[in-house]
Amino acid sequence: MTGPDMPADHTASCSCGSLRLSFRGEPLRVYACACLECQRATGSAFAYRARFRRDAVTEDQGERRRFRRITENGHWMDNIFCPTCGSLVYMEAEVIPEQLVVSVGCFGEPKFAAPATLFWAKRKHDWYGLHEAIRLVD
Ligand SMILES: [Zn+2]
Ligand SMILES: [Zn+2]
Repeated sequence: MTGPDMPADHTASCSCGSLRLSFRGEPLRVYACACLECQRATGSAFAYRARFRRDAVTEDQGERRRFRRITENGHWMDNIFCPTCGSLVYMEAEVIPEQLVVSVGCFGEPKFAAPATLFWAKRKHDWYGLHEAIRLVD
């Protein structure tokens, strides 16, 4: 069940506030990725993302555009962003059709769950350290 009557636990928003996605409950998984694609897509040293089930969406509003790329494994992955301000709010991936991958920064919640894993650790910039509980995977 979804709809504006359902309470949201987390709301992701772009910079200008027009693209918004609300979720009920906690994410399935939280991770970071330092691959070069993620560095370019975010303009930062790594991406910080949370996967939610699509059926946890309680509200979904605003215009959006997609940039599709094909991964090393030959599957598509879409970066979905606000056409006005350009924030990359979430992603959809062919291999996980029942999930949305949300940019954690868009939640604006400093207490949001930490990533369990940093993928592509071999692309990590040397200047930053991560909590020892975060598993590094090359
Ligand atoms: Zn926007
Ligand atoms: Zn990546």
